[in-house]
Amino acid sequence: FRINIAIDGPAGAGKSTVARKVAAQLSYVYVDTGAMYRAVTWDMLKHGIEAEDETAVLERLKALDIELVPGEDGQRVWLSGQDVTDDIRSLAVNRTVSRYAQIEGLRAKLSASQRQMALRKGVVMDGRDIGTTVLPDAEVKIFMTATVQERARRRYREMPESEAITLEQLEQEISRRDELDRNREVSPLLCADDATVLDTTDMTIDEVADAIVRQADQ
Ligand code: C5P
Repeated sequence: FRINIAIDGPAGAGKSTVARKVAAQLSYVYVDTGAMYRAVTWDMLKHGIEAEDETAVLERLKALDIELVPGEDGQRVWLSGQDVTDDIRSLAVNRTVSRYAQIEGLRAKLSASQRQMALRKGVVMDGRDIGTTVLPDAEVKIFMTATVQERARRRYREMPESEAITLEQLEQEISRRDELDRNREVSPLLCADDATVLDTTDMTIDEVADAIVRQADQ
């Protein structure tokens, strides 16, 4: 029988890499909820709609259709018929996504669609509020952490070379994003009471993935 696995934690903890691996090992579907917040942010930036203008954000949101499509080289993100998989990883999106993610109406809409995706079980979902809010009944809940220095190093390695940013700047940006995610009023980044905490600072991706798969097998 199939279960749902919730993986939460701060930026750059390695959630998506690990979640993708766990999903592949169990033949489950991987759902990257951060990609949904990023896709919305990318669209709002494109249309010049600021996060402070909640009414305009929610109005624009009605016109948007976000689709996560599992593919050969990982999940593709489609926004109203356009493949935005690469666009949503830009620095401009990194810098603003947490401000859009504070909007309650936006969270309600994305959370509802995330719950839909998990209805039939067999989902590995990563984000900030999955174990606490989106899937509080998930059979396995993991909270992944690592020191901010290590998380910045991991993100730095994945950055396209075209992005002019230093490791130190990236560390500051990650800290700022974590702070906004931790301190927002609606479903903040929080470890669920019944989640297993994994400090991955000194663990390899395979070690973390194996630990989660073992827990899922129990
Ligand atoms: O996971 P990722 O770093 O791509 O997420 C980008 C941003 O989207 C987070 O910093 C957070 O502000 C927001 N997010 C969220 N809730 C989720 C997933 C992401 O608020 N479940």
